[in-house]
Amino acid sequence: PFDVLVVGGGPAGASAAIYAARKGIRTGIVADRFGGQILDTAAIENFISVNRTEGPKLAASLEEHVKDYNIDVMNLQTAKRLEKKDLIEIELENGAVLKSKSVILSTGARWRNVGVPGEAEFRNKGVAYCPHCDGPLFEGKDVAVIGGGNSGIEAAIDLAGIVNKVTVLEFASELKADSVLQERLYSLPNVTVHKNVQTKEITGTDSVNGITYIERDSGEEKHIELAGVFVQIGLVPNTDWLGNAVERNKFGEIVVDKRGATNVPGVFAAGDCTDSAYKQIIISMGSGATASLSAFDYLVRN
Ligand code: FAD
Repeated sequence: PFDVLVVGGGPAGASAAIYAARKGIRTGIVADRFGGQILDTAAIENFISVNRTEGPKLAASLEEHVKDYNIDVMNLQTAKRLEKKDLIEIELENGAVLKSKSVILSTGARWRNVGVPGEAEFRNKGVAYCPHCDGPLFEGKDVAVIGGGNSGIEAAIDLAGIVNKVTVLEFASELKADSVLQERLYSLPNVTVHKNVQTKEITGTDSVNGITYIERDSGEEKHIELAGVFVQIGLVPNTDWLGNAVERNKFGEIVVDKRGATNVPGVFAAGDCTDSAYKQIIISMGSGATASLSAFDYLVRN
């Protein structure tokens, strides 16, 4: 069996695996797509000490760093079941069952898409999902935020300080964000809110040049010219496969303590799949290291 088996090969998983391997213990990593979300990222400018890089380049560096150690990398493999027996079992889609004394879950998350024409086509060409990451790319320009929940309104407030003008598009007739966020939003001079509207299309040529939406009560179609669209309708953790095997919150995020421990002894978690407050590369890597050191501590004590 493995001493530490990491499930998920993004920044959190790579960091966890390296920290484990550096203890000289038997370490494996299973990933259905080694690299994770950063494979879909263009510019990365907030990975501290690296002024600017691209996602695929950072993913390649992660892989190279992992391969520098004695880590059993099982790429293109998807976990479908976790069960705690004497050892912890991870069953893969291909039917194989891996056994380990401890497991670190780092299966990440995915942004929910609006699913309108132009969204996929202009991803990283004006369509963005992370205001902390991509906000500064739109300095002085006009952008829209799709989604009026807490994350959408937080994004709009954040962006209003950087860009020229922010338009918020909410499908429902009311914003769902907390009232203190709404008050802050409405106090800003460069924000317009459209409620009860449905996004129809994100338009562009080489990159985004506008958004078309429908006013749901009148059925009237409107078009706004802008340079960027932030989609903020939810971040979904990749944790369905766990079922009730580990405790998850109402958003499906794995509940961890400050050591990265879940409710199941020997099972730890890190990165975007957990209930961590913020989802970023640098934060995922830090939590991967935390979970790994905790797993090592658990092995020493058991
Ligand atoms: P992920 O990167 O999501 O990795 C999850 C891993 O688990 C993947 O290898 C996946 O294949 C694997 N996996 C999932 N389910 C299973 C399963 N059942 N079995 C096996 N493997 C599984 N953050 C920044 O800090 N700066 C940025 O500039 C930035 N830009 C971004 C731009 C975009 C377009 C996106 C989508 C995100 C961006 N982020 C950015 C966020 C950042 O990418 C994430 O916070 C980070 O990748 C999370 O790392 P993670 O390891 O927790 O999860």
